[in-house]
Amino acid sequence: YVFGKKRATDVAHMVWEHVVQKGDTVIDATCGNGFDTLAMLNLVADDSHDGHVYALDIQKDALDNTSLLLEKSLNSKERQLVKLFNICHSKMNGVVPRNALVRLVAFNLGYLPGGDKEIITRSETTLLALEAAKRILMPEGLISILVYVGHPGGREELEAVESFAAGLSVENWICCKVQMLNRPCAPIPIFFFRRR
Ligand code: SAM
Repeated sequence: YVFGKKRATDVAHMVWEHVVQKGDTVIDATCGNGFDTLAMLNLVADDSHDGHVYALDIQKDALDNTSLLLEKSLNSKERQLVKLFNICHSKMNGVVPRNALVRLVAFNLGYLPGGDKEIITRSETTLLALEAAKRILMPEGLISILVYVGHPGGREELEAVESFAAGLSVENWICCKVQMLNRPCAPIPIFFFRRR
């Protein structure tokens, strides 16, 4: 229930729960400290379903943090279902098996919490990655983007994401954004749902 959620990440996770099914393949395009990766694995896998999470980040520190969190939180069978890649998300097509049906591609933009605030997602590569996500997403799949506007470049990135949405056809896509009007700097969850 969206109004019970205080954090934008919780809003995004709640929407994922309504779209993602056990056994699905999903992509965490910005794994950072691994919290989204872990939430995704819990959505796609259980005792009888082996869904897969492909998690990407350009920073080795982020992959190390994600790895540590997964080691602490998952058993060895679950851990094998998560594949980590130290690459830019614009190259996501190269890491997911060619025949995979991808249900969710999630972006949590900005910088690594607790890390170097100068290393941030950039509009140019974010747009390339959104194009890549669009190409590999299955019908009834979701691209989820959390945009931060409080740091330099954040508002420009929001504009880039919104202009990308404007190019998605009304027949095939439902695009929406959840903006907290009394919190002007709150992160903004944006969703592109592919109808077919
Ligand atoms: N999802 C993470 C979590 O649950 O902890 C938080 C992600 S953090 C806000 C943003 C991450 O995006 C950083 O770790 C940063 O290194 C990564 N990043 C920046 N540019 C990237 C790119 N071009 N490709 C992949 N990751 C990138």
